[in-house]
Amino acid sequence: MEAKDAYLKLAEMMRYPESKELISLLQFLLTPIQAQIAASLPASHQELARKFGLNEEEVDKNLWDMFNRGLIFPKDFSKMDGARFARSLPQLHDAILSDLRWDPKKESELAQKWQAFYRSGYDRDHALWFLQTGVPIQRVLPAIKAFPPDTKFEPWEDIREIVKTATKIAMAGCACRSRQMGVGLDCKFADRLYCMQMGRGAEYAIQRGSGRELSKEEALKFLYEAEDQGLVHQAWNSQSMQGNPICNCCPDCCVDWENFKRYKVPTSGRWLRTRWNAYVDEILCNGCGLCLPRCGFEAITLKNNKAQIDEEKCFGCGLCVLKCEPKAIAMKLLRPPEFVPQGGIDRAAMGAHIAGGVYKEGPKLP
Ligand code: SF4
Ligand code: SF4
Repeated sequence: MEAKDAYLKLAEMMRYPESKELISLLQFLLTPIQAQIAASLPASHQELARKFGLNEEEVDKNLWDMFNRGLIFPKDFSKMDGARFARSLPQLHDAILSDLRWDPKKESELAQKWQAFYRSGYDRDHALWFLQTGVPIQRVLPAIKAFPPDTKFEPWEDIREIVKTATKIAMAGCACRSRQMGVGLDCKFADRLYCMQMGRGAEYAIQRGSGRELSKEEALKFLYEAEDQGLVHQAWNSQSMQGNPICNCCPDCCVDWENFKRYKVPTSGRWLRTRWNAYVDEILCNGCGLCLPRCGFEAITLKNNKAQIDEEKCFGCGLCVLKCEPKAIAMKLLRPPEFVPQGGIDRAAMGAHIAGGVYKEGPKLP
């Protein structure tokens, strides 16, 4: 297989063989021999060495380099046997751009290449896909600091419990925020160090050096800081405690949130709200307006100098509570635990998400 065919095959595997922007990104990420190796995976070291006229050490060196940079994924993170190329564009995006060793401002070409591909139509396809999954992939977790200490949470919606039961925790860069910074669109909410991997995801980030291991105390402190900065916690949409990444999202950087707005996709197509809604005590509200920009869901307006919350738009994140000095906003429990799917998100929908196979089908965008 020639190198140009290898780049094309990788783009085909990502379902965008016609995208010159994706080919350009792949050429930036992979040397010609790496593209040839990546397009031939999974394969043994011996097979690859024979196929490309290399010795096994050279093969191994290239495999480790691609693993360290988030391009290939072995089953066992300590050896490259059985490694495969990324399963999907979201996996490639997140693994590469969440690397804490990458400085997006100094090495901005990587971000620019991704952005060029995104804006060439992939962002639209990605947004469109959310209209047809039929199930939110992620759910919002409540900001614990916004609730009275005696609030009863289920363990799977309580960041303290999720942190307590995690087998391993790592801090990683936020892929979305890093990409935005790399193209000169600085985040209004936070710096980039605000995503957290748990369990196997944490092991992966620590092993390849893209993330930093956190103690449980550090992790919780870090999540509370995210709440102070106005970032919305997100986890997979299920009652599972294990293997949850906790994203800390903002409306200006999060690739999905930004896309919802750009293509008018309902936020509820992607995220499940929490079991609470926010309510304003009009007697206590002084009309300062500080809660308005805090709400990424644009649920709050001021009317007659009093804050008003649109119940439909409120996702129950609790972040507005933390901005209200007179304590005029409180969270009310509205939905039972069954509101969150027990057995996890719809596996077929998730499988399609991972494979990226349905991006270009389905209904037209509004
Ligand atoms: S922050 Fe509190 S006091 Fe200020 S407008 Fe919002 S609800 Fe009213
Ligand atoms: S009004 Fe907005 S900030 Fe407040 S809880 Fe609802 S979604 Fe979150």
